[in-house]
Amino acid sequence: MRKQLLLLLVVGMVLVITGCSSVPYTNRSRYLAYSQSEENELGKTAWEEIKKEEKISTDSEKNAMLARVVKKLIPVSGMADLDWEYLVFESETENAFALPGGKIAFYSGIFKYFNSDDELAVVAAHEIAHVIARHSNEGMSQQNIANIAGVASVLTAYILTDGDTAATAVTGAVAYGGLNYGFLLPYSRTHEAEADEIGIVLMAKAGFDVDVAVPFWQKFGNDSTISFFSTHPSSADRIENIKRVISELKSGTHTSGVVIRAK
Ligand SMILES: [Zn+2]
Repeated sequence: MRKQLLLLLVVGMVLVITGCSSVPYTNRSRYLAYSQSEENELGKTAWEEIKKEEKISTDSEKNAMLARVVKKLIPVSGMADLDWEYLVFESETENAFALPGGKIAFYSGIFKYFNSDDELAVVAAHEIAHVIARHSNEGMSQQNIANIAGVASVLTAYILTDGDTAATAVTGAVAYGGLNYGFLLPYSRTHEAEADEIGIVLMAKAGFDVDVAVPFWQKFGNDSTISFFSTHPSSADRIENIKRVISELKSGTHTSGVVIRAK
């Protein structure tokens, strides 16, 4: 039993060390268990399924607006070579999402909040940021670590309690619950804040007006139904984070090295 535990820990550590890299534009270290091509494959499979279920919009204005914006953001993403695809789905849903490998979807219901390309760019850049920061990959990788850590803690409890199965079961339940709340949930908050941050950087690089971002999120947060914020946080922290990024970009102190020059 002890040998198995040791082996599990060693395997876990080797995996983590070999899978470490840093996120573009923020330099945050992260662990990715899957390769870019595995990620692309997963994204493509999900995308094909979703396309079968959703009604693809033929609204030429909305499609043209999305295309105009995305075509400016992709070249500055640093991952222009992904197989990017973007579509508008016909639905009242006021939301947008991204899949790994460069698939971006906007529901037609969200367009009523966009009074300009800059405003659409706020949401598009946030979604593209999730893709280039490879957040889905990291989320799945964290789940793997949580599973290894969960198994390790159960094995440890088993050894420490001399094989008391009841005590082992309790430890296992506590460990899994703790891992979810203390480890996995904060990751999704980190990812949202990071997508906001990288999104603003991409907007700046592509020449969009980053100053629309704060009023846009405030307007959208006040007026929209809950669909977008069921998958994205709406909070004062978020606005503060975006304000910080914009001010760092303007003063030339942002980690990315990107600078917004005064006009
Ligand atoms: Zn998001």
